[in-house]
Amino acid sequence: MIDYIAGLNEPQREAVTHGNGPMMIIAGAGSGKTRVLTYRIAHLIDRGVDPFRILSLTFTNKAAGEMRHRIEKVIGNEARNIWMGTFHSVFAKILRIEAKALGYTSNFSIYDTDDSKSLLRAILREMDLDDKVYRANAVFNRISSAKNRLVGPDEYLMNPILRADDESARMPEVGRIYKEYARRCFQANAMDFDDLLFNTNVLFRDHPDILHKYQHKFQHVLVDEFQDTNVSQYLITRKLAAVHQNIAVVGDDAQSIYAFRGANIENILNFQKDYGKDTVKIVKLEQNYRSTNTIVQAANSVIARNRNQLEKRVFTDNENGPLIEVIKASSDNEEGRLVATSIFEAKMQQNLRNNDFAILYRTNAQSRAFEEALRKLSIKYRIIGGLSFYTRKEIKDLIAYLRFAVNQSDEEAFKRIINLPKRGIGDTTVAKIAVLASEKNIPIWEVVSNITAHIAGRASVAIDQFSDLIKSYMLLLDKKDAYEVASHVAKTSGILKELYEDKTVEGLARYENVQELLNAIKEFVDNPDNEDKSLSSFLQTVSLLTTADEKEDDGDNDKVTMMTIHAAKGLEFKNVHIVGLEEDLFPSQMMLESRADLEEERRLFYVAITRAEKRLTFSFAESRYHYGRLKICEPSRFLMEVDQSFLTMSKAVAPPKPRFKGDDTYASRNKDEMPSAGSMNFVRSLAQKTAQRQIPPATVTHTPSADFAPSNTAALAAGMKVEHAKFGFGTVKSLDENGTERKAIIQFDVVGEKTLLLSFAKLRIV
Ligand code: ATP
Ligand code: MG
Repeated sequence: MIDYIAGLNEPQREAVTHGNGPMMIIAGAGSGKTRVLTYRIAHLIDRGVDPFRILSLTFTNKAAGEMRHRIEKVIGNEARNIWMGTFHSVFAKILRIEAKALGYTSNFSIYDTDDSKSLLRAILREMDLDDKVYRANAVFNRISSAKNRLVGPDEYLMNPILRADDESARMPEVGRIYKEYARRCFQANAMDFDDLLFNTNVLFRDHPDILHKYQHKFQHVLVDEFQDTNVSQYLITRKLAAVHQNIAVVGDDAQSIYAFRGANIENILNFQKDYGKDTVKIVKLEQNYRSTNTIVQAANSVIARNRNQLEKRVFTDNENGPLIEVIKASSDNEEGRLVATSIFEAKMQQNLRNNDFAILYRTNAQSRAFEEALRKLSIKYRIIGGLSFYTRKEIKDLIAYLRFAVNQSDEEAFKRIINLPKRGIGDTTVAKIAVLASEKNIPIWEVVSNITAHIAGRASVAIDQFSDLIKSYMLLLDKKDAYEVASHVAKTSGILKELYEDKTVEGLARYENVQELLNAIKEFVDNPDNEDKSLSSFLQTVSLLTTADEKEDDGDNDKVTMMTIHAAKGLEFKNVHIVGLEEDLFPSQMMLESRADLEEERRLFYVAITRAEKRLTFSFAESRYHYGRLKICEPSRFLMEVDQSFLTMSKAVAPPKPRFKGDDTYASRNKDEMPSAGSMNFVRSLAQKTAQRQIPPATVTHTPSADFAPSNTAALAAGMKVEHAKFGFGTVKSLDENGTERKAIIQFDVVGEKTLLLSFAKLRIV
């Protein structure tokens, strides 16, 4: 067993070994909060707590997977039995078990945002409301925010404040839309994402026996990224922990970045109040193990500008490391090129892999320029978020078939597949069926499976055939696993055939995507961690994947990661590029209505900075296309807010190009808005300041852990089993003694093959 206690500092150890009772760790980035939670769970199990009785809530399913894996390293297979996942996935599981109590069946569908908006649009049409006034997006956000504050439709309609707010937004009917939306979801045996939390609260509120069961079951509740829980999530954890009072939460108020989604920093303040000031064990973690001194201090200098924050200290014993480089580009495309080149050079000079790099941006739309530039240099990359695999049309189509086979009340799935492939059933017929079901308050399937009783004519024959097809699928559900059913559906529904016959390049790609989905289902079925191999169970897993949970399309894992800063929470990379540091883009113009908004954007910047371990690079462009217009950009105020002594201008500054000549956008602007007026001053002052820069030397040089010290590796030989501080266990494949640096090629159990420089590698022979 790994001696996990040895790899902890004193306050971390205190938190890991803390006995019973509530505990809160609010500490800075990279101080080992997640590590403490992980080892605490291992410790609890080591001390005899049944893993089935531990509930651990993480930010992404991937984070849960990684945590589980690390715990497995310490305590073995038992780790599989921990209840671990995102709030949504864990509570979807409980709702499935308890569905009956709420009038649902356990195979309820989970509506994604597209489904929700499509349903809202249908309701708007039926209610004869103008969808230019009532935009589906805006209505959806209002309903979502009500749910996250636990306001149901009836309460909504009776709440004068909400109604007045809707009036002033010129959408007085939101309450009625909400009510109809909720009714239709229920009738479709479907829950949207917010319902998963809302309904869990209803379940625990209205069914004390069920609450009682889970309160007793979960002896320990642990929450990572506590700062980003919303009221609804907080109440669930509070109820669940009410009996044993063993709740451990970790978070960082300086990294709270979901206020717009209802996350509530008050939770941190309430925690002490709710559990009693004298009862709550508070642990402070102050030492950052992730980043260089430069990065830690730069991050501190930024966050110090926020008025609204809890007082805490973050320091590191790590080396100073290089200064933060600032890249100025003349355009967004050039920014892409300069960043890609910088990655290319760093890879060569520092012998790094693609995996060691991340490009973080404020919005997904910014990825394009970097994609192009990286492709030109043949650097592989992955985009997390963006248009993900599961949002592609052909994938959603097959999934809709599978959803409808499992839940025949699923109105949105029905609408998607009823005329796919084409069966000559028009939109009018489909709308007629939906209205019929809605008016009679019966599931859509009752109309469809008895169509001749409702509609006459050609369409009814086609619908009859469709309903026979679905019935044949329903018969398979109990007998076959998810993969067998799904491949049967793909073949017999006509989806594969249609794509196969489409001989265009896109058609072929779509065909392959469907095959890829089937592969993913096969993997799900073959995975020993998944006890329930039914189609219904697979569908639940798929609907709750977050954008950060994306699976690799190809087998190659060594890629530069590109993602929004929101998605990067909790992660770390050796080299980080924070790009698009321009006013209006970051801080985002759309978000800036108040000081609170600016502070949230600043926290986002803090999160971005603190992802970096060794090297951090900022970049900004002086112009970029925005909604089809060339826009002149100013460097972000955040660049000025960083203590300037930690910055240095990149030498890769491109010579200014006269590319604006004859450009209308430019010509029409006044002189004050010349592309580089502001930024050149900034660059000049930056250059002066950085020349005088001095970082106070760190007092102690930090060695991560005696166990993982590089000096242990002298005796390394091929075939040996080793453990790496980060990559876990592996076997040495070969040693490369030829170059100036001694290297080992190691096959790690989890992350695959890595080449490590032995003078740096934190390896331990096991
Ligand atoms: P964030 O706020 O970004 O979520 P965090 O507080 O959760 O960060 P971790 O991710 O747990 O921090 O830890 C940051 C890094 O420091 C990890 O690589 C972790 O393995 C390492 N680390 C944490 N504590 C120690 C320690 N005592 N000794 C060596 N390394 C440590
Ligand atoms: Mg963490």
